[in-house]
Amino acid sequence: MSPKRLEDMYDAVIVGAGAAGLSAALGLLRSPEIEDLKAQGVDPKILVVSKLQPLRSHTGSAEGGIAASLGNVESDDWHWHYYDTIKGGDWLVDQDAARLLAEYAPETVINLERQGVAFSRTEDGHIAQRRFGGHTRDFGGEPVKRAAYAADRIGHQILHTLWQQCVAQGVEFAEEWYVTDLVLTEDGSQAAGIVALDTHAGKVQAIHARNVLIATGGAGRLFHTTSNSWDLTGDGMALALAAGLQLEDIEFVQFHPTGLAHTGILLSEAARAEGGVLRNADGEAFMERYAPEHKDLAARDVVSRSIMAEIDAGRGVADPKDPDGPKDCVWLDMTGIAPEHMAEALPQVVETIEQYANLDPAKDWVPIKPTAHYTMGGIPITTDGEVYRWNEPDNNNLANAHPEWLIDGVLPPSKAIGDRTVVNGLFAAGECSCVSVHGANRLGGNSLLDACLFGTRAGRTMAARITENPVDSPMGDDSADETLIEAVDQTKARRETELADLLAGNAGSDGDSDADALPADGNPYELMARLGSLMDRALAVRCNAESITTASEHLNTFRPAAEALRAHSNTAAFNQEITAIWEVRHLIELAGAVLAASGAREESRGAMYRTDHPERDDERFLAHSMIRLLSPEEQDRLRTAIAETSESEPEPSLTHHISWQPVHIADYPPKKREY
Ligand SMILES: Cc1cc2nc3c(=O)[nH]c(=O)nc-3n(C[C@H](O)[C@H](O)[C@H](O)COP(=O)(O)OP(=O)(O)OC[C@H]3O[C@@H](n4cnc5c(N)ncnc54)[C@H](O)[C@@H]3O)c2cc1C
Repeated sequence: MSPKRLEDMYDAVIVGAGAAGLSAALGLLRSPEIEDLKAQGVDPKILVVSKLQPLRSHTGSAEGGIAASLGNVESDDWHWHYYDTIKGGDWLVDQDAARLLAEYAPETVINLERQGVAFSRTEDGHIAQRRFGGHTRDFGGEPVKRAAYAADRIGHQILHTLWQQCVAQGVEFAEEWYVTDLVLTEDGSQAAGIVALDTHAGKVQAIHARNVLIATGGAGRLFHTTSNSWDLTGDGMALALAAGLQLEDIEFVQFHPTGLAHTGILLSEAARAEGGVLRNADGEAFMERYAPEHKDLAARDVVSRSIMAEIDAGRGVADPKDPDGPKDCVWLDMTGIAPEHMAEALPQVVETIEQYANLDPAKDWVPIKPTAHYTMGGIPITTDGEVYRWNEPDNNNLANAHPEWLIDGVLPPSKAIGDRTVVNGLFAAGECSCVSVHGANRLGGNSLLDACLFGTRAGRTMAARITENPVDSPMGDDSADETLIEAVDQTKARRETELADLLAGNAGSDGDSDADALPADGNPYELMARLGSLMDRALAVRCNAESITTASEHLNTFRPAAEALRAHSNTAAFNQEITAIWEVRHLIELAGAVLAASGAREESRGAMYRTDHPERDDERFLAHSMIRLLSPEEQDRLRTAIAETSESEPEPSLTHHISWQPVHIADYPPKKREY
């Protein structure tokens, strides 16, 4: 559905209609400020834009549960959840944010229940809860049942419920509109709106807004083996980079241990929570060796690395569908779960195994391998959902003042200082954002919680801003709107020209790209597949300087291929190749940032395991990476500076700037992480 007409100016535009975007819309509309405003006869002008029909948002595929210390099945305490989240994130977690996450989790889940989420029930009618990796009692003790679930379809329940609530509130949607640009004012201090392609009409639209919230989900499609659907192309993160903003901790990508062999489709952690066991080629339940206490329910990064270690040691198995193929899987043995219970608690898992592997999990062992699942990093936000820039002062002064802090003559990232400047009217929520509750590795069930809780908080913060000067108010001041409108309209004009160019026909490769790039009639899907394989080779579960450098060099050859892409049909309406071209360009830009940030972090932490720096290094790297694209002028200046001070040729890939932000440690100082 498209809006009947576009407003000249919106109070708020929300990009994304998954758990985060919909929670933000509801948080905004149900806030006391907006209720007061409505009582005065002023209606806020809100639009939710989504490249998918909202009910196809990826939230709908979340399976296992949402974490909250309800204590319905076993006694629990939010402080334990708080601690587990920090430990799960390998101490790269901002503890003020994690505290909010854990403290408000029960309220968030109960609110979801009241809105209509049909949770599974205990015998006495409470919300049912199951175990999930890394969730424990007594600060790291025995596993605890903390994930509130709805069979293995919690995301479907949450997405439908939030959407229905939005419909009831009269939220207007622009469905299957693809956002191409996040527009800020020229000085970058204020959100101005967005530009989007209405894919139904094939028309570029300018949407002017005093507040913009980005909730575009993750970027699993960076990798070939992924649990993420085709739409998770990291658009919001790429839009932020293109707008000159930073991404935080973007090097941390979670590989979920149990992707169904050679499809990557997720078999929920709930399968292990309900009694599934990982076994190697010898039939050994090997997690007992790697995580003696928590075994198969250790944190995901630990389990994924253990699987890879078994495969490397020659104890992997081949996919029965390809018995002569590589032995790059291990078994998931669910035969110990009673079939009736399996059907009731894991219907989705069972169906996936039956349909895609032709196996019966009640009798057969199922081949699995780690699959790219979740982006821990993203657009940096405060705990109120505001996007900020991290400003680094001249850390040289700091280095001079504290020579004792230097390591090998250099000020380490962990000692860097700076401050945050909020971008007025710009917000983000959900998987595309980084409030820093997941650190270096997310615990299962914490993502839906993050999206719902911090989405709601961002909506409320927007509401407070809107009431200061609502668009619809007769007393309102619209003097600043002209600047916003001009900025968005200029961007729209550029996109229109580009769209015409893309539709004008297949111009083919410019001939500059090497053999790894596409042939002249290349298409975005093929380029996306190549990118996925490149990123799998470079970063999947483990990496090192060589794998990162090799991939970065190859990536440089992808850019001209992506720029040369043109649509094979000149019809603008419903031309999915157009959006695919923009998506693959987004993925390539994002891949560049992920690789650059991975290269800069010379340690192993959480989901990032560097074989050349196998230990966690708090002394140097207990800090968030903050990466942004260098402008062409900055790149030139840098090249010149390097050429003046060095005899060697300047690096060709000086494309990003990384600064470092200290981690907020409040209650739990870092310690060794064992499961
Ligand atoms: C298979 C699977 C199972 C999972 N299970 C769990 C679980 O059990 N528990 C848990 O806590 N987490 C789970 N997760 C993670 C969790 O589901 C996601 O992190 C969360 O749902 C993300 O919500 P979101 O609102 O940020 O993004 P999404 O739900 O992905 O929504 C993104 C929205 O942005 C829109 N969009 C994107 N780009 C554009 C653009 N350019 N223009 C316009 N619109 C755009 C899309 O249309 C969509 O509406 C799972 C993830 C996967 C992949």
